[in-house]
Order: sequence, then C-alpha cells, then structure tokens
Amino acid sequence: MEENKGIIEPAAQDAGVVDVEKELKELRLKQKKLERENRRLQIEMDTIKDMNEQIARTQGFMKKENQRQIFYNTQLLKVSPYLVLMVDEKLKTVMASDVLTQMTDVSLDAVRDGMQLDEVLSKVLEESVLNSLLEKCHSVLENRVSDTFMLNNYFGEEERIYKVDINFYSSPVEGASGLCILFTDMTEVIEAKERAERADKAKSNFLANMSHEIRTPMNAINGMSEFILRDSTDEEAKKNAAMIKSAAKSLISIINDILDFSKIESGKMEIINDTYSLSSLVNDVATMIRIRLQEKKVGLVVNLDPDTPSRLYGDEVRIKQVMINILNNSVKFTNEGQITFNIKHEWDGKGDCCLHVSISDTGIGIKKEELGKIFESFTQVDTKRNRSIEGTGLGLAISRRLVTMMGGELKVESVYGEGSTFSFDIYNKVIDAEPVGVLADNYDVKLVHEVDKSFRRPNARILVVDDNDMNLKVAAGLMKPYGIVPDLATSGPESLELVKNKTYDLIFMDHMMPKMDGVETMHRMRDMKGGSEWKIIALTANAISGMAAKYVEEGFNGYLAKPIDPASMELVLKRELTEEKNEEILEFDPEGEVLEFGPDEGDAPEFEQGDSDRGETDGKPGGVKKGNDELIALLEEIGINTGAGLMHAAGDKDFYLEIVRDYVKAFKERSSQLQEYYESGNMSDYSILVHALKSNSNTLGIEDIGAKAKDLEFASKDNDTAFVDHHHGELIDAYRNRTEEIRKVLEE
Ligand code: ADP
Repeated sequence: MEENKGIIEPAAQDAGVVDVEKELKELRLKQKKLERENRRLQIEMDTIKDMNEQIARTQGFMKKENQRQIFYNTQLLKVSPYLVLMVDEKLKTVMASDVLTQMTDVSLDAVRDGMQLDEVLSKVLEESVLNSLLEKCHSVLENRVSDTFMLNNYFGEEERIYKVDINFYSSPVEGASGLCILFTDMTEVIEAKERAERADKAKSNFLANMSHEIRTPMNAINGMSEFILRDSTDEEAKKNAAMIKSAAKSLISIINDILDFSKIESGKMEIINDTYSLSSLVNDVATMIRIRLQEKKVGLVVNLDPDTPSRLYGDEVRIKQVMINILNNSVKFTNEGQITFNIKHEWDGKGDCCLHVSISDTGIGIKKEELGKIFESFTQVDTKRNRSIEGTGLGLAISRRLVTMMGGELKVESVYGEGSTFSFDIYNKVIDAEPVGVLADNYDVKLVHEVDKSFRRPNARILVVDDNDMNLKVAAGLMKPYGIVPDLATSGPESLELVKNKTYDLIFMDHMMPKMDGVETMHRMRDMKGGSEWKIIALTANAISGMAAKYVEEGFNGYLAKPIDPASMELVLKRELTEEKNEEILEFDPEGEVLEFGPDEGDAPEFEQGDSDRGETDGKPGGVKKGNDELIALLEEIGINTGAGLMHAAGDKDFYLEIVRDYVKAFKERSSQLQEYYESGNMSDYSILVHALKSNSNTLGIEDIGAKAKDLEFASKDNDTAFVDHHHGELIDAYRNRTEEIRKVLEE
C-alpha cells in the first residue's frame, strides 16, 4: 500500500479537473453578473445625469418665469391708474404702484425701504381722512376681514372721491402678513353719474312739460271738435270733426302711455297707497267699459265677490289703470260674446287681503307662440289681423310692471280664435272689513255707497266750516241719511263765534279758506276753553298720500279728502259719534231740542238712497224723476263723469242735479271774481278761489275743469305768474263753455 503513495490515482486526478472547471464557471458567472450590475449602474448614472440636467433646465426656466412675473408685476404697478400700496403688519410699506410717484414726491425705493404708511399717505390725504383710514387698517389687521368704503378727500384745492379696498394678505413663504390697499379714484365716475342723473331729470321734466303742453292744446282740439259736432248743421264738417275728435283722443292716450312708460323706465313711478272703496272702484271701471261697449254686440258681466272687504288700502289709481287697460283690450279684440270681469278675494281676517282679478273675453285670442311677446314694450301681435286696431303696444308692458310693483304678477291664458283671460293678484290692507255686498246686476244703475240705515245720530252736533257754499251743501247732504243736520259756517271767524256758544261733537274744517285758513282756525279753537278736546277733522282737496299724518301732526283729529267719499264720511261719523257719547249729549242738551233717538224715529227728513230709481220702477208717473235720469245721461254724454258726481252725492239724483245747477249759477260771480284777482295780481286769493273751483268741479265729475283749475292752483301758489298768464284765459273759456253746455242740457 506504501509503494503506491506518490502515485495519483486516475479517479483523484479527474476530481481535480472538475473543481477547476467548476470554479472557472462560477467566476465567469460572477463576472457576467458584475458586468450586468455595471451596466445597470451606468444606466442609473445616465438617468441621474439626465435628471440633473433636467433640474438645471427647470431651475433656469423658473428663474426666467420668476423674472417674467416680476416684470409683469412691475409693469402692472407701473401702468396701474390706481394707487396700490402693500404694507406689512407694522404698516411699513413694502410695495406701491408707480402712480404714487406722480401723486407725491415719495420714491419707490423709499417704499421698498419700508416707509411708514401714514407718512406716505399724509402727502395725499387730509388729516382727518388719513386718521379714519389708519383706524380701518388696524381693524382689518386685527379682524382679518377685508373692508371697502368711500373716502371724500379735500386735499389742497381739490376734492376727490376714492373707493378704498383694504385686503388682508398672509404670505406662506415667509410667514409674513400685511395689507394690500387699493385706492380707486371715483371722482369722474361719480361726476358722470351725477351728470347723467341731472340729464335724466331734465329729460323727465321735459317729458312732463311737453306732455302738459301737448295735452292742453289736445284738450282744446277735443273740445272744439265736440262743439262742431253738436252745433254744426254741415254734415261734412261734422264728419271731419268726428275724425279730429277721435284722433285727438287717441293721441292723448298715447301721450299718457309714453309718459307712464318713461316714468317706469326711470324708476320714478311710485305706488301711492291710500284708503279706497272697492265698490266705487269697480263701478267706475265698469261704467267706463260699458260706455265703450255701447257700439258693440258684446256684454259685460261683473262678478264682485260680495264678501270682499269694502274698504282697502292700496293704489286705487294704478289698480284702475291696469283693469281699464286689460278691459279696453278685451273691448278692442272682441266682436261678439261677452267680457267677464271677476274680482275675488282671499283674506285671513287680519292684515293683507289678496284680490284675485281676472278678465276673460270671447275675442280673437292670441297664438300660443305670441303669448310671451305681448308684455314686451311697443309690441303688438297678429298685426295683419289687427291692422285697423289702434294701440301703442305699451298698455300690457305698463300693466305688468304696475302689477309687479303692487306685489303681484300679470298672467295670460289664451286660445287662438276663442278668447283670452288675463289675471293678476294684488295685496292690499283691509281698512273696513264690512263686505261690499251684492253689486247691482243692472249696471245702468250707478253703484253708490250703501248707507248703513241702522246708524242714525239725529242728536249729534256737527259744524262744517267751508268758504264754499256748494261744499257746505254737499257735506250736509252726506249727513242727511243719518238724521244729522249740521251747523254751517262760511269762514274761520264765523266758526269761532259759533263754537263760543255751542259745544260740537265734531267739526269739519276746510283747509283752504281766504284770510283765516282752516289750520289757523283750528289752532285758535284749540286755544279756547276746552278746545283741546274738540274733534276737528280737516277737509282737503289736496289729498295725497302722507297727508293724513301731516294734518294729525298739525293738531287735527283726522282728515277727509274732498270730494268727500260718502263711505269715508260714514266711517268718520261712526268712529267719532259713538252711541254712549250721543246719549251723554242728550242728557246735557240745554235747549232740549231733539230728544228722540233711534234708528226709526229720526226727526230729520228721511233720506233713502236711490229714491228716484225706485220711482221709475214703481211705474208711477214720476215725470220729474224720469227727467233726472235723462238729464244725467245727457250730462254723461257731454263728458261729465256723472258716476263720480252721483257717488259724491250719495246717489241722490235730485241733490246731484241741484248742486250741478248751483255750479252753473255760480259761474258769473266766480269767474268775474277770478278775473278780478287775476287782474290785480292777487295770487293768494286767486289760488284759494281756483282751489274751490277745482274741488267743486271734481265733486260733480266735471273733471276737465277740475284738472285745469288744479294746474292753476299749483301755479298760483308757486307764484308762477307766467303759467297763470298763459292759462288763466283758457280756464275761464273752458269754464264758460262747460257751464254753457250744462245749462243747455239742464234747460232741455
Ligand atoms: P296695445 O296698446 O297695442 O293694445 P298692449 O300692450 O295693450 O298694446 O297689447 C299688446 C298686444 O297684445 C295687442 O296689440 C294685441 O295684439 C294683444 N292683445 C292684448 N290683449 C288682447 C286680447 N284681449 N285679445 C287678443 N289680443 C290681445
């Protein structure tokens, strides 16, 4: 075995070769692995290099972008017309727009160096303004809520108005915060706005004056053509006059529409609320429409919900205007069938009452695709078919706006060829919840206030003071149904004598009286023994909204507008003459005059509303009474609003005609008196007399004279002698013509 020691066995020799090969193989594998790793690292190195390059590029870009932003900002600040100031929390300036250097001698470098805000602004703002601005800055810093306000600054010789915006900023980068203050110079803008407002006002004044100037000759054209129509025997001339009259009428209504529309457009249309009687409103509207329907085969049905409260608080004039506009359209666009005028209500027993008004017709209807257009201004639809129908296309635009102003919405539904329904809601306060009751089916009977027959006060002591006989007569007439016979005084001093000897439960005092007016008389009464307790109600024809408060402030216990509305008179009497009080008076009645008291036993002559109507229906030979109706119809024909007149006379036709006769009789004396005041330049007495003429004319429904007298009353009060010179003769002529016309009618 030892001899074999140095000899390598072939098997062992083979094993050594295998190990080396194996090692080599492993080494090669390792090398490959390392090579792969090397390549990967190489790639990563390249990526990192790329990334570095990218970062360098981005940095370069950002630097440029930054520079660009800085450039833009600087440009912005350079060209900005507004003064922009940025300050830190200590109100040290950080930045400003270049305009600062034009406004002050402060350099932008000084601003960047952190100049104090008050020092900078002291060069442009007056001290008090600066102080208030600094206060606001502190408050914004404290509350971190931005603020905007206007500053009026009188600096040096100049007045400038700035809008100032103070904004709080907080920079996330440096953690710094402060204020950015922007001054916008509004001086020119505000001046331009004021100029535009002045121009707008001038335009409105121009429109108002122009309309006045146009309306006056238009009324003359209207009136003169009426004369030709009545007096001429030449048929051709009459035909022409009829055409002139109709053209004048439509021109007047166009002028009115344009005026209303421009008022709405300029925001000058106002809703003026006051107490009104729903039944008299509906009656006025229905009467007007009936007159228009006379030449057509179309009926008018009025359904006024009898439970609707009788007196409401709203803008009667505008409600009427909307109703008439819509009803007039129905008349225009309906040739046969019926127009239905419905007024319903919804009321919770307190507060507001909602009136639902709807007007339906069986007219030509409106195409579905045109329904949306009809409310646009100056728009008429279906013009081919409606070519011959007059209109401006403004009526519905005005109506819709008015309804919106009164809290409602004007709507329409229509079937072309079948008819249309217009409807709207209006919210009014309830003044008297007493139901309106059933409206007379027969609309030939004028609707008047239904006197409450259960209310009688024959013992009441009432004094009416008015310088105008007719007004006294009307007031007394309105008290008759309640058994009241008032004492009458025609001047302040006369009334002062009366109250010395008799205690009155109620005194009605006219405001406008010559020498001692109603206000002065009232004050003198108040100074008398016990006078502070007296109930004194002002009577005034200057009934505009807000007036009631003025009279009460002055010392009156209330006021009644003239022409006196019978329902309002009844309301005042009921309010002031309570039963207990009446009995008290009976007890203390020194002369023991009228002692009976009660609804059925009045001493005063029994007054029944609508006596003359009953006379007719009874079929009795009441010639005079029948004559009354004819006379009233004739007065209506010559353009007198007998509906209004009768309403003011509480429906008593005899009484109405009697005061119309008085009006005619008074012409001579009153016109010569007016002429005398005019010639002697006595404007104060002129204005009182012309005021009385206005009020008498309106009471009787002679509205054209009422309107002319009103213009002259205002002009004479303002001492506008040019206007009075221009229109005095015109009023006298119109007054003469009117009384002549009425005289003719009454003599017939
Ligand atoms: P206009 O003064 O021309 O009547 P409106 O504004 O009152 O102006 O009406 C606009 C248009 O709406 C009318 O021209 C008419 O074409 C249409 N329209 C209004 N009411 C009715 C109606 N009841 N029936 C049919 N068409 C109507």
